[in-house]
Amino acid sequence: MANCSENRKSVPELFGSAVFNDDVMMERLPKDVYRSLRKTIDEGKDLDLTVANAVATAMKDWAVELGATHYTHWFQPLNGVTAEKHDSFISPTSDGRVIMQFSGKELIKGEPDASSFPSGGLRATFEARGYTAWDPTSYAFVKGGSLYIPTAFCSYSGEVLDKKTPLLRSMEALSTQALGILRLLGDDKTQQVITTVGPEQEYFLIDKELYKKRRDLMFTGRTLFGARAPKGQELEDHYYGAIKPRVAEFMRDLDRELWKLGILAKTKHNEVAPAQHELAPIFSTTNTACDHNQLTMEVMRNVADRHGLVCLLHEKPFAGVNGSGKHNNWSLQTDTGKNLLDPGKRPWENLPFLLILAAVVKGVDEYQDLLRISVASAGNDHRLGANEAPPAIISMFLGDDLTALLTDIETGKPCGNLAEKKLQTGVRVLPDLNMDNTDRNRTSPFAFTGNKFEFRSLGSAISIACPNIMLNTIVAEELRQFSQELKGQADMPKAVNALVRRVVSGHKRIIFNGDGYSEQWVEEARRRGLLNLRTTVDALPRYLDQKNVELFRRHRIYTEAEMEARYETIMEEYVKTLNIESLTMTGMVRQEIIPAVSGYVSELAQAVAGKRAVLSGLPCTAESQLIEKLSTLLDRAYAQVEELEESLGDPRAASENILSAATHYRDTVIPAMERLRLTIDELEQNAAREHWPYPTYADLMFSI
Ligand code: ADP
Ligand code: MG
Repeated sequence: MANCSENRKSVPELFGSAVFNDDVMMERLPKDVYRSLRKTIDEGKDLDLTVANAVATAMKDWAVELGATHYTHWFQPLNGVTAEKHDSFISPTSDGRVIMQFSGKELIKGEPDASSFPSGGLRATFEARGYTAWDPTSYAFVKGGSLYIPTAFCSYSGEVLDKKTPLLRSMEALSTQALGILRLLGDDKTQQVITTVGPEQEYFLIDKELYKKRRDLMFTGRTLFGARAPKGQELEDHYYGAIKPRVAEFMRDLDRELWKLGILAKTKHNEVAPAQHELAPIFSTTNTACDHNQLTMEVMRNVADRHGLVCLLHEKPFAGVNGSGKHNNWSLQTDTGKNLLDPGKRPWENLPFLLILAAVVKGVDEYQDLLRISVASAGNDHRLGANEAPPAIISMFLGDDLTALLTDIETGKPCGNLAEKKLQTGVRVLPDLNMDNTDRNRTSPFAFTGNKFEFRSLGSAISIACPNIMLNTIVAEELRQFSQELKGQADMPKAVNALVRRVVSGHKRIIFNGDGYSEQWVEEARRRGLLNLRTTVDALPRYLDQKNVELFRRHRIYTEAEMEARYETIMEEYVKTLNIESLTMTGMVRQEIIPAVSGYVSELAQAVAGKRAVLSGLPCTAESQLIEKLSTLLDRAYAQVEELEESLGDPRAASENILSAATHYRDTVIPAMERLRLTIDELEQNAAREHWPYPTYADLMFSI
């Protein structure tokens, strides 16, 4: 818990106090060392070992002052979590004492035992060992007595085994292509284009004591059974409602912990479902945003624990109320501070804006599959298309004015510049675009919201790396194509007009401003030829389509082998998740639910027998009918458990053909789980409270 002196610190004092950031570097590093390091950070220049040694020593001294005894290379393996292995700074001296030491070599490179991280078979084909390499673009920090060094993770032969490396590559690809466009449009000042991201994180908080009483929550992060509580979210009294004192204390502590780590935690509020909340940071560079979101999730769990709470990050902890997502707000910014997705007051003249908008429209349409894949997981399958989150169909919301602008460009005469055309066709007045016209259409998976796009299909538990890798690379590719087309054009506004026009007429099917939750949209989307990849298993195989392999190869994000590895890893995770859920279910039913209900039935039977012994004519309808009902349900549950267990089959077979295993889980195992759940939930509604072995939905969601 934050100690007293920390509690007294003002927020500006506290902010970043555990981060080896630019201020600390400037203060602690010799000038020339600082300059070399800055060059490495800003321009990706290699760092020589003497500089690395100086940085390492300064970092270590600083970390030790903050109480650190260890350092760790912190990385993001393919399973979407973070990994760390801690080494202490101690180094023995000849007289039997120790000193604290940390070298440049240790800073730059680590060699964790890579064999236990998912690699989708990559290491088997290539090289067993892996190494981590310092990512100087993300600041090191101190947490829990260790110096954390953000790193990338690769195999020895260079195959990427993490999520950070491709993310960094995609940022670079987009910067290169966007710069190309800016140059063509006469901008020679901008040196770099940065993708910015602000991820809004949803989560649930429940009481720790109750959590510990449910194996499903402990093993799978969600409830596998649970009859609906009499009250859910229908009164709409939780969203933005007053924050309860215990939650407020948690949030206060969480904010301070995040601020110490330099995380720009900004907004907090109650969400739609009871016990659900949200935290949003101020946006930052994508790489930092990704590191910070991983840290935020971890700190949320730890702080909750200190408050006797558990933070559930699963996409669907409770059936029947909203699940949790993560909105990925995304934009492009020049190093001169200009937001390229800001339409400005005269968007029809804003050529960079029009081109990037067109690139996003074309890219989202051509790579719907990749965007859907980037958010695919067993957990998120519960949300997409379930009328609480965007549908599994990818489309874009642009709002009335932007749509009108694009339509005018599409239908306008091919001559003249955009400004004139605007006057001719009289598009509505646009200056208030930022405020009112990007309405709060929450049903769209991908919405323009004033000066950024908000990708809303992400699940709460996933790393934001993958969705951003997709977005950056897709848009980089479209901008590359645009550059080729525009190169050498004398009349740039005219050429841009023609290009945007063609993009709009070729790709407008992806633009949809209506209600994404409606049945009509599913029909309409089908007519438009949009993909509707409802489950992870429907989506994933398209990852390896030729056009996708080519996309990533062209921009040097992934090799085909790396893509295959990723495909394998995600599919395996899907199968394993469902396998764990099934086994947890069967265990709970066999070991806890059947004995509990059977005990209750026998109690009822004794009550009937007792009554009859006293007076044979006493009415026993309630008990008798209940005995009958519960016994029927018990038998059904028993049969369904057997059925579920049989459907799991031999887990070894799964690894031989991952697609058929995953398909089997989707088509056979999930329905068996659902049938069993129906029976168990009915049992819960009919069993005596004291005989039910678990806290109920009402207990879990209304206990804090
Ligand atoms: P909402 O109404 O969806 O809550 P907000 O305006 O509060 O929208 O912003 C939500 C998130 O969008 C915040 O995390 C914010 O930092 C982020 N955001 C704002 N501008 C940008 C930008 N230019 N690039 C990336 N993210 C941004
Ligand atoms: Mg939002």
